[in-house]
Amino acid sequence: MAVERTLSIIKPDATRRNLTGKIVAKFEDAGLRIVASRRIRLSKGQAEAFYGVHRERPFFKSLVEFMTSGPVVVQVLEGENAIAKNREVMGATNPANAAPGTIRKDFAESIEANSVHGSDAAETAANEIHFFFSDLDIHS
Ligand code: ATP
Ligand code: MG
Repeated sequence: MAVERTLSIIKPDATRRNLTGKIVAKFEDAGLRIVASRRIRLSKGQAEAFYGVHRERPFFKSLVEFMTSGPVVVQVLEGENAIAKNREVMGATNPANAAPGTIRKDFAESIEANSVHGSDAAETAANEIHFFFSDLDIHS
């Protein structure tokens, strides 16, 4: 295993319900280190660009509206096998299918308002991290 970095977003449904700390605790309990963190409000253009791979999906417009509906917390998580480990801690996209103890099982409201985003592979992680952060913002 290697030390990796991955991008996490705590989504508007979670910031609205004041769940940032509870979600961060799950990352830290799993051995993931928060090496960069910023609370921001995504613009429509930023949300459309970030979710560009989903542009043709039927839920795209609604997803962009949701992701711009309130503040989000963008973070870089670091640790052994961080990309897969984060996705394990997040749980399945649809909270109805998420395993017990995962963030989405405990906190998600719906398949769309599912509390967190996490990069899904090494290349997307690198691109997504640099979408929000410069190397100078990241401190291990
Ligand atoms: P993320 O990319 O946010 O980490 P994911 O990789 O589990 O989640 P994707 O398939 O990449 O899921 O979808 C991106 C996001 O789009 C989901 O997290 C969710 O917010 C939304 N989404 C996915 N599928 C649906 C759907 N069928 N209906 C509504 N929203 C959806
Ligand atoms: Mg995804």
